[in-house]
Amino acid sequence: MAARAGIPLEDMEFWQFHPTGVAGAGVLLTEGCRGEGAILLNSEGERFMERYAPTLKDLAPRDFISRCMDQEIKEGRGCGPNKDYVLLKLDHLGAETIHKRLPSVYEIGVNFANVDITRDPIPVVPAAHYTCGGVIIDRAGRTDVPGLYALGETGFTGLHGANRMASNSLLECFVYGRAVAQHIGEHLHDLPNPRDAAPWDDSQVTDSDEDVVISHNWDELRRFMWDYVGIVRTEKRLERALHRAELLKSEIAEYYSNYHISNDLLELRNLVVIAELIIRSAMQRKESRGLHFMRDFPGVNEETRDTILTPDTMNN
Ligand SMILES: Cc1cc2nc3c(=O)[nH]c(=O)nc-3n(C[C@H](O)[C@H](O)[C@H](O)COP(=O)(O)OP(=O)(O)OC[C@H]3O[C@@H](n4cnc5c(N)ncnc54)[C@H](O)[C@@H]3O)c2cc1C
Repeated sequence: MAARAGIPLEDMEFWQFHPTGVAGAGVLLTEGCRGEGAILLNSEGERFMERYAPTLKDLAPRDFISRCMDQEIKEGRGCGPNKDYVLLKLDHLGAETIHKRLPSVYEIGVNFANVDITRDPIPVVPAAHYTCGGVIIDRAGRTDVPGLYALGETGFTGLHGANRMASNSLLECFVYGRAVAQHIGEHLHDLPNPRDAAPWDDSQVTDSDEDVVISHNWDELRRFMWDYVGIVRTEKRLERALHRAELLKSEIAEYYSNYHISNDLLELRNLVVIAELIIRSAMQRKESRGLHFMRDFPGVNEETRDTILTPDTMNN
């Protein structure tokens, strides 16, 4: 909505991945597991974090661990029939400790992976967890459009920089929630009334018998974003992803103009805009910093610079 309204967005390339999402379920296992002593294993049974971080091992920062897991999987040491996850092993902690210290993890194992973690390791993959970037707002949550506020994960507050500490959503929720409420309370009467939206005209569109286009494009978007724009990026991968995003965007626009809308279509139409914002932001950052890791530019530039996308840069 903000991008379509021409409001600038900042640092959309900084996406945090949580290392231990239950494979295929998208539910997260707390990092407290590794805090208690759980370890990650690849298909060779190797505790691979010892190789990447000999001192911290499985207690290395979450973005670093996610990158290592991604590398293990991409280099063919993933587990399962498709070699697309690694394993989190907890059984050595003992059933008593698990039930006492990690009861919800035990429940998640049973309910979402059909695994008893007191006996067997549980399949995990990094899962998209948080975007540090977003719609540029001031300290009162105001955007460039009078009367339009943004807060929470949607807003770019600058609180997180290029990475994010765990549980900072609480900070956003309390601090910005209060600031926005206060500002609206004080200025409600000065705010301009929003313009009336044009009446929705669907007299020229028909019902689609091609709903498969939506599910197909959704899968394709998810797949290329994971493969090309996920945890480790390269210029080539980003170019490929942009090309595909543009194709999908035009296909979705055509579908949107010709057929009755549905929730899925609207969500897909929004997702492709977000995907393009992430790709274009990532292409602008020629370095590896925080959550943005580019194999072609592994170092950090001396000069720090924000990535700001405006309608002009969006369309280039
Ligand atoms: C699996 C997972 C675990 C997490 N764990 C933690 C944690 O432990 N600690 C922490 O600090 N952060 C955590 N985070 C991050 C945190 O949950 C989010 O940053 C936070 O919930 C964002 O809050 P929000 O209000 O901005 O957005 P949301 O919580 O996403 O709320 C947005 C709301 O808007 C609604 N909505 C969307 N579109 C429309 C529309 N068109 N019209 C009307 N309503 C709409 C949605 O239904 C939703 O209710 C986690 C994130 C994930 C994915």
